[in-house]
Amino acid sequence: MNNLFIISGPSGVGKSTLIDHVLRSIPQAKLSISCTTRSPRYYEHDGKEYYFIMEHKFREMIQNGEFLEYTYCFGNYYGTPKSEIENIMKNNGICILDIEFAGAENVLNKYKNSKDIKCTSILILPPSILELKQRLIARGADSEESINCRLSEFNTEELAYYEQIYDYIITNNNLKQSKEVILNIFNNALNSEKYNI
Ligand code: ADP
Ligand code: 5GP
Repeated sequence: MNNLFIISGPSGVGKSTLIDHVLRSIPQAKLSISCTTRSPRYYEHDGKEYYFIMEHKFREMIQNGEFLEYTYCFGNYYGTPKSEIENIMKNNGICILDIEFAGAENVLNKYKNSKDIKCTSILILPPSILELKQRLIARGADSEESINCRLSEFNTEELAYYEQIYDYIITNNNLKQSKEVILNIFNNALNSEKYNI
C-alpha cells in the first residue's frame, strides 16, 4: 500500500513551511512537484517548488493526458503530473501533494476505493484572515494585487463545505505546535498502515 498525503489551505497559511518540516523529519516523504504557469517567487527554483512552464506547454500536457488533475486559479494553471506520483511511489516513497480544494477533492474521489493507495488529507487554516494577510505581506513575495486576489478566494461558505472533506484540520497558529501536530498525523497514518498489512 502506498501513502498519499494531500495538504491544502489558503495561500500564505504555512503549507510549504509545514511540508518542509515533514520532508526534513521523514526521509521517505517526497513532495510531488506540480507544474505551474505562474512566475517563480524570489526564493523559488525550477524543479524544487514547481516546474515553471509556459502556458502552451501546459496546454500540451493537458492534451497528452499528463496530469492527474489540474486547475486554473489566481490567473494561472497548476497541475499534478502523473509521472511525479508514479516516480515517488515506484521508489517506495511517501507522496505529498500541496494542492487547492477542488484538486484535492478530485484526487480523493479518484483514489477512494483504491486498494493500492491510501490517502490522508489535511487542511491547514489560519487563526484569522487578518493574520493570513499579515503572513502574505511578511513573506514579501506577492504583489498587493496578488495578495488581494488570494485573500478574496478564501471564501468561508466554500470552506464550510471543504472542511467536511478533509481527515484532519490544523489551525496553524503556533508554528512549533503545528509542526508537532502534522508529524503526529503522518506518523499515525504510516503506523496504522503497518498494522493493517
Ligand atoms: P503557503 O505555502 O501556505 O503559501 P508559507 O509556508 O509560504 O505558506 O508561509 C507563508 C509565510 O508565513 C512564510 O513567511 C512563513 O514563514 C510564515 N508562517 C508560516 N507559519 C507561520 C506561523 N504559524 N506563524 C507565523 N508565521 C508563519
Ligand atoms: P501558490 O501560487 O501560492 O504557490 O499556489 C496557489 C494554490 O495552488 C495553492 O492553494 C496550492 O496548493 C495550489 N496548487 C499548487 N499546485 C497545484 C496542483 O498541481 N494542483 C492543484 N489543484 N492545485 C495546486
